[in-house]
Amino acid sequence: MNRDEAGVVRDEVAYDVCVVGLGPTGLVMAHLLALRGLTVLALEREPQYYGMARAVYTDDECLRILQAAGLADELHADMLVGLPVQWIRADGRVLAHFHDPSRRNGWPTSNFLYQPAFESTLERRLAERPGVTIRRGRSVTSVEQDDDGVSVHHQECTGAGYGRRDAELVDGTSEVTRASYLVAADGGRSGVRTQLGISMSGKSFPQRWLVVDLRAPTGGGCVRAPALLRLHL
Ligand SMILES: Cc1cc2nc3c(=O)[nH]c(=O)nc-3n(C[C@H](O)[C@H](O)[C@H](O)COP(=O)(O)OP(=O)(O)OC[C@H]3O[C@@H](n4cnc5c(N)ncnc54)[C@H](O)[C@@H]3O)c2cc1C
Repeated sequence: MNRDEAGVVRDEVAYDVCVVGLGPTGLVMAHLLALRGLTVLALEREPQYYGMARAVYTDDECLRILQAAGLADELHADMLVGLPVQWIRADGRVLAHFHDPSRRNGWPTSNFLYQPAFESTLERRLAERPGVTIRRGRSVTSVEQDDDGVSVHHQECTGAGYGRRDAELVDGTSEVTRASYLVAADGGRSGVRTQLGISMSGKSFPQRWLVVDLRAPTGGGCVRAPALLRLHL
């Protein structure tokens, strides 16, 4: 371990790829890179996993990506598959009904997931992959690109409440790690993208969303609806 005059630790190990952020994007990307024999450093600023759902649904194309990562069967076993879904208006009328029994890409088109289970499995399996180093509680503060790769500056972080507060950084814990490539998977408010001056394309919903996790009274980690789940709010 080398420490420069400013007290910054300069890692002796250089990685093929540094993945910033361990949400679903970073997790899957790290799996796919490791499967190709690359060394991967994954940096995540939250010391502990969030443990709450945002995403609830994924489709057949995503399952093909998970299949390429060798994870589809395990993850799919924990999903609600092929359920009909109805969107209900406040007055009880059906706004939309979705049910597609076809498997045009080999997997069901409708797959409901419990994000904490989904991400925990992805991270547990990632930790088992050779060549992968996962460091939680490390916030990337800046990146510098040159002809040979990228220098990634990161610092110990006590957490940012998954975007609900500013990241709290710990003084005297700065490190610089070298990697040939960097993947910015640090979410919708990506600091790496901001530093690189890359704007976000696409749109956000103007409405506020409420995501509710329900635990079935008869046990199980999440709702297992036998036929059709209807929520009236
Ligand atoms: C209410 C709601 C409902 C949704 N429903 C669905 C759905 O049904 N289906 C679907 O596919 N998607 C859904 N989404 C979107 C889905 O949650 C996101 O697309 C997905 O979480 C994005 O994954 P990600 O890995 O790109 O980013 P994130 O999940 O945001 O992960 C980014 C990670 O980067 C970390 N990070 C940030 N900055 C740094 C830094 N400087 N250094 C280190 N780490 C950092 C964060 O802590 C975080 O862990 C929903 C989102 C919301 C809010």
